[in-house]
Amino acid sequence: MLLEKIDTFDIFRPKMDSSKEVLHAIASFAADISPSFPYVNAELGGWDYNQANQVLMLKLSDGKWITLHPHQIAMRGLRDIEEAHALLEWIRSQINDVYERRGTITPRYVSQAGLKIIEIMKLLPMTNCKACGYAACMAYAAALREGEISLQDCPPLWEEKYREKLEKLEAYLRSYGWRALDAD
Ligand code: SF4
Repeated sequence: MLLEKIDTFDIFRPKMDSSKEVLHAIASFAADISPSFPYVNAELGGWDYNQANQVLMLKLSDGKWITLHPHQIAMRGLRDIEEAHALLEWIRSQINDVYERRGTITPRYVSQAGLKIIEIMKLLPMTNCKACGYAACMAYAAALREGEISLQDCPPLWEEKYREKLEKLEAYLRSYGWRALDAD
């Protein structure tokens, strides 16, 4: 097991904005979990992976973030202490499980943060029709990059005349490990 023992787990209210009803938490340990990062990035769809500095950020669907460092796990936007413990146990088991299965996983060294809004826009219909609920294709492209919406939310993109753009956009997103935040 790569990460067995957590040495310290500090849960605190962020000093920068103590009025916010959220908690942050940092777990520290002696084990080096960085060998799991390319596999965790591939399996969980990391938001940003800095291989040189060994930092992997995971963006969760409800405004929470988990940042993995070689000897620390930092979590932001937690509701309460119970959630902090539950989330730590979840990510610890994910790290161990993914690392255990690493022989069957293709490691990923790029991440969603590498996606460019301008490149996404080039592959959209660019009619600003608002059918997606956004005022313009640019806003949709920004939300898509964040994983907050899906390709299905742009109905015109699925018309036959845009088939080539759709296929190229799917390939572009896939190449950066994109996934919608509410995806399984
Ligand atoms: S539905 Fe598609 S084409 Fe229409 S505004 Fe949204 S992104 Fe642009």
